[in-house]
Amino acid sequence: SEEKTQEISSYAVAFPDTLYHNASERANATFVLLARNSDINGVVSSMQSVEDRFNRHYNYPWVLLNDEPFTDSFKERVSIISRAPISFGLIPKEHWVQPDWIDEDRARLGRQKMMAQRIIYAGSVPYRNMCRFNSGFFFHHELLRPYRYYWRVEPDVRFFCDIKYDPFIYMREHDKIYSFTISLTEWAPTIPTLWSTVKEFMATHPDYIDPHNAMDYLSNNGGNTYNLCHFWSNFEIADMDFWRSEAYQAFFNFLESKGGFYYERWGDAPVHSIAAALFARRDQIHFFRDIGYRHESFQHCPQGDQWSEGRCSCDPADSFDYSPNSCVKKFEDLFS
Ligand code: GDP
Ligand code: MN
Repeated sequence: SEEKTQEISSYAVAFPDTLYHNASERANATFVLLARNSDINGVVSSMQSVEDRFNRHYNYPWVLLNDEPFTDSFKERVSIISRAPISFGLIPKEHWVQPDWIDEDRARLGRQKMMAQRIIYAGSVPYRNMCRFNSGFFFHHELLRPYRYYWRVEPDVRFFCDIKYDPFIYMREHDKIYSFTISLTEWAPTIPTLWSTVKEFMATHPDYIDPHNAMDYLSNNGGNTYNLCHFWSNFEIADMDFWRSEAYQAFFNFLESKGGFYYERWGDAPVHSIAAALFARRDQIHFFRDIGYRHESFQHCPQGDQWSEGRCSCDPADSFDYSPNSCVKKFEDLFS
């Protein structure tokens, strides 16, 4: 009886599970997680969070990638976390290591200059390999080629809330190509010449710029200078066909030709963000307000009904959205 239901669970009555977990409709999608063998504890922790809050109801596959072969013990520990198919891929050398044509003396000087400014990962070549791989190559990996949409996960991230619908289907049905949960400003010393390179590209390829672009998210003066706003790419649900498109391929190849992934420390976050903001319509970028997410040192915590209905474990007062370095306001201004 109705009375009995209320006795059993006030939560179930307040938030009935209607329309949720319609897992019959599938998107052509996968999780993707890049990691080192030494990241194992953070990897299983992140995967557990994703599985508990979403994927145990959907069983989208996992693709794990590494520039070195995953060890048997890594694979064993990962394999018990999900019932979904999990594949382990090796990244081809040419998609990872610093290319031969990069002037190593110039690259070293760039690293030293950045170290003197105490920038995080300033002296790291592997970090630069990772940024370049995430910018230009992951979506070409043979394990990812069959898929259109991906959800990027990193070690040691956390999902705070139940996700009671399929975000991949949402992306497809709403014609979205890129999405985010946290948006912030980049460290300027990591990208000294990125914007001038972008402007050079725009001048030679005006045809690639979407007339309904989000330039005003990137620039406060119509494109003259970059305001450093970007989407934090450790969380991404996006459309790999966008990265595989002629426009993005031309853009990445142009950036690559300048060597800025090594002479500076161009991150995949500003690279992806700038491309999504320029080569797509602004309404094709989505802010997943309802996805509670943390990657040190910031988090996005849903507010109001989204917080309670998602059974979110985050403190709604701790959400990066309107912090001084957040660009969410700028993103929202595009639509007002
Ligand atoms: P941060 O989030 O910018 O502090 O950088 P992370 O250390 O989290 O690295 C970003 C992602 O790339 C994570 O998924 C890491 O596991 C992965 N990663 C970083 N460096 C390497 C590397 O040298 N090899 C591999 N296989 N993965 C890496
Ligand atoms: Mn990280």
